Amino acid sequence: MADIIQLLPDHVANQIAAGEVVQRPASVVKELLENAIDAKAESITLVIKDAGKTLVQVIDDGAGMSVTDARLCFERHATSKIKSAEDLFSINTKGFRGEALASIAAIAHVELKTRTEDSSEVGTKIAIEGSEVISQEPAVVQKGTTISVKNLFYNIPARRNFLKSNTVEIRHIIDEFHRVALAHPNVAFTMINNGSDVFQLPASNSRQRIVNIFGTKTNEKLVPVSEETEILKISGFVVKPDFARKSRGEQFFFVNDRFIKSSYLHHAVVASFEGLIKDGMNPGYFLFLDVDPKTIDINIHPTKTEIKFDDEHSMYAMLRSTIKHSLGQFSIAPVLDFNKDSGFDTPYEYSKKFPVAPTIEVDRAFNPFKREASQGNIKFPYKRENTASWESLYVGLKDEVDGDNTSNSHRMNNIEVESDEVTGTLFEGDSEASGQTTFQLHNKYIISPIKSGMMIIHQHLAHQRILYEELLKNITVQEAVSQQLLFPLEFHYSKPDIEILKKIQEQLEHTGFVFSSLDKETVEISGTPVSISESQVAQVLEQLIKDIKDEVPDAGFSQNDLLAKSMAKSMAVKTGTQLNRKEQEHLVHQLFACKEPSVAPNNKTVLITMNVNDFDKRFI
Ligand code: ADP
Ligand code: MG
Repeated sequence: MADIIQLLPDHVANQIAAGEVVQRPASVVKELLENAIDAKAESITLVIKDAGKTLVQVIDDGAGMSVTDARLCFERHATSKIKSAEDLFSINTKGFRGEALASIAAIAHVELKTRTEDSSEVGTKIAIEGSEVISQEPAVVQKGTTISVKNLFYNIPARRNFLKSNTVEIRHIIDEFHRVALAHPNVAFTMINNGSDVFQLPASNSRQRIVNIFGTKTNEKLVPVSEETEILKISGFVVKPDFARKSRGEQFFFVNDRFIKSSYLHHAVVASFEGLIKDGMNPGYFLFLDVDPKTIDINIHPTKTEIKFDDEHSMYAMLRSTIKHSLGQFSIAPVLDFNKDSGFDTPYEYSKKFPVAPTIEVDRAFNPFKREASQGNIKFPYKRENTASWESLYVGLKDEVDGDNTSNSHRMNNIEVESDEVTGTLFEGDSEASGQTTFQLHNKYIISPIKSGMMIIHQHLAHQRILYEELLKNITVQEAVSQQLLFPLEFHYSKPDIEILKKIQEQLEHTGFVFSSLDKETVEISGTPVSISESQVAQVLEQLIKDIKDEVPDAGFSQNDLLAKSMAKSMAVKTGTQLNRKEQEHLVHQLFACKEPSVAPNNKTVLITMNVNDFDKRFI
């Protein structure tokens, strides 16, 4: 049989590629805007006629192209952005496939005008139709690049007929415009549709850009989100739960400044809103994730709107907890102004005191929960934490409650409040004299007055949250301290249970356990985490073994998480335990140093707030 395989001519190959890259005028908008960003433009104008069916034009003031490059950019696989396959894993540009311009030129009438900064060079003007260069000439043009794409799909009638109404197509174009403009607030953007300005967005910051696009009312709806870890930086905003919508609304993920779609990460956001919005309502978000380009693969989809992450699970967990934390802060502290520096507010402890020079005296062995080891009580290693944000819950409380008899002290307040040190000295001085700030109810709840009313904290769940975060940190950061036991503890377990312990031995050691032997049917422990008393060890390990046996395989939780949850549950101070003043205050203090004080590791509510207005309504 004769040979039948032949190589397709370039213009056909380009048309085929165009089928993937260019689905509609909005795809052209996306590619051209992204090229302008990659060229480091500071100002970009998008001009649209007839929903992009007649004209899509992008004018930028970026780097421009040399004469040769201007010609070459329309070739397939012509790119200045990568040189080798390795470069695929360190991509910092929007483009890299070198096929957008080639594809667009295969299915439209394209005109390119471009000039580099180098003033010795005149600019270049090229006209190209269906991959064929019609003309190329020197031209006097501004620095930067202007690309005009006319009569899209002129040579593919099927595609042209397939386009939707102008209303639908312009919607898609605006969506693409928003995505690029949101990801690059430091670049000025203008959009002109059929001769009139639709958007004029000056260079600004992220919040301002969102407001400029979606309207001034948006500003008050935004809750800032921010977290930075070694593998991921999260910034941006979520829309307050009250403003959740029936339609999907504004939902934006950007990874390294590139808009992406991810149902998995979307799920993480939805999960963090759990309990705050009704079923069927959609949360709004503008989230910017920054990761090492090595840890993602962008090259899995021609339009590059999908990304493969190396460690999707951690992303999910971090995103969820960060947003929960932001929302938690928002919901427990509705009076807080997040833009205000709360360090300038009056800490409640000090409203009746004369100022003394703050001294830093930290008793590291201080342990308000420690009674006798046999009672199985809990211990907290004393830590200084940043509690400034929650303390402003108490701002003004003393004045309102007690009035002010000593004009002296009032005047002095202003001096004290400017010192950060006060937040760390919660337990110093004579707290009896400064008035009771917490009460215990039924040996179960801790009641604490706050500015807007009162807060009721579930002591057992609160302690679980504190221990959980501490344990999880110790397991991951591996910096826990052990307390050496004078006499090693010995336990006997069945073989399968020993196997379980062996599997988690390493993590347990990170929490502070020291195993002097762990084999056959005996376990010998010569050191324990500092926050566990000897009498608790047996129960903690038993519970842990049980929890691991009961674990639903592959439920999406990491072993570390399970371990921290289980240990926190058995170590936490029980309901029914009486706590003295210092213990109560310490618990509150520690709780608000947590990342997510309002929910327990098992997702139960840790605290509720009640507003004075609600009380007022009942006294009728
Ligand atoms: P890619 O962006 O994947 O490299 P394109 O086909 O979109 O592929 O562009 C090809 C090349 O043309 C780019 O790599 C870049 O060097 C050049 N180019 C495209 N648009 C511009 C522009 N607006 N300003 C400067 N150079 C551009
Ligand atoms: Mg490109």
